[in-house]
Amino acid sequence: MSPRPLKLAATPAGEHLRQQLHALKLTRIEPIVDSIAQECARERVGYLDFLERLLEIELLERRERKVDMLRHFAGFPYKKSLEQFDYDFQPTVDRRMVRDLSKLRFLDHGENVLIVGPPGTGKTMLSVGLGLKVAESGRRVLFTTADDLVQALTRAFQENRLEEKLKSYISPTLLVIDEVGYLPLDKLQSNLLFQVISRRYEKGSIVMTSNKGFSEWGEVFAGDPVIASALLDRLLHHSHVINIRGESYRLKEKREAGLFSHSLPLTHGGDRPE
Ligand code: ADP
Ligand code: MG
Repeated sequence: MSPRPLKLAATPAGEHLRQQLHALKLTRIEPIVDSIAQECARERVGYLDFLERLLEIELLERRERKVDMLRHFAGFPYKKSLEQFDYDFQPTVDRRMVRDLSKLRFLDHGENVLIVGPPGTGKTMLSVGLGLKVAESGRRVLFTTADDLVQALTRAFQENRLEEKLKSYISPTLLVIDEVGYLPLDKLQSNLLFQVISRRYEKGSIVMTSNKGFSEWGEVFAGDPVIASALLDRLLHHSHVINIRGESYRLKEKREAGLFSHSLPLTHGGDRPE
């Protein structure tokens, strides 16, 4: 139903009603109460139906605003949906699996989603798409790169407020950690990432993307190979793995724009997000 202009009668009763709606923070009802009242009188519907129509509009608009806020504060690098993903271009991505994940049952048991593949193959896009579904379901999602996460935690550690910062990564229903493996992590950084993962273990889901296969994770956590395996152990225990083997979508777009005449060999690393 589209919002209609404010038309509460300029009488003491109208003014009183307006104040009551404000006091109850029923702000979406105020501009439409008069026209809904007229509509209900015309259709001869009863008082309960009138009340139901009003509350429905209030709830619907509140929900929309909440989803907008959740999307906004998630920190996505861009907002593309799973529905925009071209599976024909990337056939190693199982569309049935992604559709199943998009129903978000994995959140109920704190299961993780690990997306592995070379640069430009849609890892970030799939993680954003799943994150958007979480926001649309009214739950909190936080998107971060591994680099930003360890930087922020290192700063917090140095400033003696690690616990508080850790909570910000533990509390969202879903945490997306993008680009694990682009930069090697030292001992402190590995340890900080480990704390986030072990605290969320079996409680809160993580979607993690990496350009490195799991066998290469020892190199990523150069400061501590023991942590690398402890971390993988927790991540993989209850997890869905999307292993993308294919060409970069960015290169396809460039080729289509006539910048390359044929396929370029795929390279690992050095790739930055949009
Ligand atoms: P990466 O795997 O490096 O994280 P991205 O997910 O950021 O790659 O993808 C790079 C760009 O290509 C983004 O703009 C993304 O939306 C687009 N893209 C990648 N794969 C697909 C795909 N299969 N269908 C549609 N767009 C895609
Ligand atoms: Mg990416």
